[in-house]
Amino acid sequence: METICDRILVETKYLGANVSCIQTERGSVLVDSPFLPEDAREWKELIRMSTGTDAEFLINTDHHFDHVLGNCFLTERIICHSTAARGIKFLRDKNQLKQMIESTFADLLPGIEAEVDALAIPSPFITFDKSITIDMGDVTIGIEYVGGHSPGTVLTYVPECKTVFTGDNVEGQFPYFGQSRFYEWKKVLQRMMDLDIAVVVPGHGEVAGKEMVNRYLLFFEGLEKEVKGFDAAGMRMEQMAQESEVLHFFSSNVKMEDGFVPSWAETQYGLAAKQILSGQD
Ligand SMILES: [Zn+2]
Repeated sequence: METICDRILVETKYLGANVSCIQTERGSVLVDSPFLPEDAREWKELIRMSTGTDAEFLINTDHHFDHVLGNCFLTERIICHSTAARGIKFLRDKNQLKQMIESTFADLLPGIEAEVDALAIPSPFITFDKSITIDMGDVTIGIEYVGGHSPGTVLTYVPECKTVFTGDNVEGQFPYFGQSRFYEWKKVLQRMMDLDIAVVVPGHGEVAGKEMVNRYLLFFEGLEKEVKGFDAAGMRMEQMAQESEVLHFFSSNVKMEDGFVPSWAETQYGLAAKQILSGQD
């Protein structure tokens, strides 16, 4: 666990998304939740131990299961974008949810299936379309809709600590392009480069400085250039992932022992190529 600015706890070790706790004079605000029930319970205990109480609010950076499944263990006072709120309610279809878990993390489901079946998926408490500011006394938390990775992805910013929680618009691994808009995403990264940021808490991967955003932008530019080059050479889209060098941009970061499905990145590459060649924002 890391501490930023004496008040923000970040845990990057859980399977799934990074989780954070912003401590303020009006209580603590969490960012995302661990998706494995045992991790969510542990995180709740850690928060109780370090703050003496439970969280006031929980911000979900998007609606994907790896960011929201542990919500019910932490608080029902969830804040997220209105589209993400709809996405969270879809997770109540447990058969679909279990398929999603299986396609991302092989062999994990049998061990948690009973708990997933019993899991409550609370409706978000506060939703918004553009942006919202939470006045926590000594800290102001700004949450802004940006899209890119998903139609419900938000950027959370704590100016007092010059810290940004990017959600999955920045990660330490090959991204999920299943619900993304490639060009919109690239613009979000370009905009983030203009913010006054000292600390970047990505959706997945280690906490870093602003250079992490820049590296991600370079990855996006490299991917776009490669796909357009392949296309100009007449290559079929299905073949591109096999020939790609950019596919291995993050390969040293991927934790294979977590049961990550290797063909997953190839599928994501194909989805990205489609978005790039469509030219749509
Ligand atoms: Zn994620």
